[in-house]
Amino acid sequence: MARLHAETAPLPGVKKRLRAHAGVLTPRRRPGDYAQAVMDLGATICTPRRPACGLCPWRSACRGRQAGIAETLPRRAPRPAKPIRHGTAFLALDRAGRVLTERRPERGLLGGMLALPSTGWADDPPTPIPPLEADWRPAGEVRHTFTHFHLRLAVLWTRVEVLPDGAPAAVEAEAAMPTVFAKASRLGRAAAGI
Ligand code: SF4
Repeated sequence: MARLHAETAPLPGVKKRLRAHAGVLTPRRRPGDYAQAVMDLGATICTPRRPACGLCPWRSACRGRQAGIAETLPRRAPRPAKPIRHGTAFLALDRAGRVLTERRPERGLLGGMLALPSTGWADDPPTPIPPLEADWRPAGEVRHTFTHFHLRLAVLWTRVEVLPDGAPAAVEAEAAMPTVFAKASRLGRAAAGI
């Protein structure tokens, strides 16, 4: 419909108008056959990338073809840029290579999953309040993209003498963590030389 009517307004906003165009063209008699024919046309001739206008039964009526813009239609609005959020993750290692972990809250992103302790993730970098007092050192930054935002996660690491009973080996914990925390843990271990 966008090509036939040379609709240059972008999707998704133009959808309503395209539906209206389609409605006007749909015949009372045998609308199912008509719909099938239009779908066949879209699948074989007026294909998304290369409309074969020379073979098309609508070529003399098609305004998109007449204007020479058929291939550029339908247009799409550019996707809004994803926001960037910031946070800090903390990697506390003992001498045996075990690591301090926590379960993320059930609700929210990565809910209930094993993770490194971390700050929340916000537009402005939150104050990095560590889970325990120690000599925290920067290891670098992990970048990770979620569906709705990019995350820049600073990683701080430290060595501790004692961790809670049952603290997992860092390598095992990484296998159970979501990718962003596994990356943060590996970065912290590299900085620690483990
Ligand atoms: S003439 Fe070209 S652009 Fe127009 S409907 Fe046919 S195949 Fe599509």
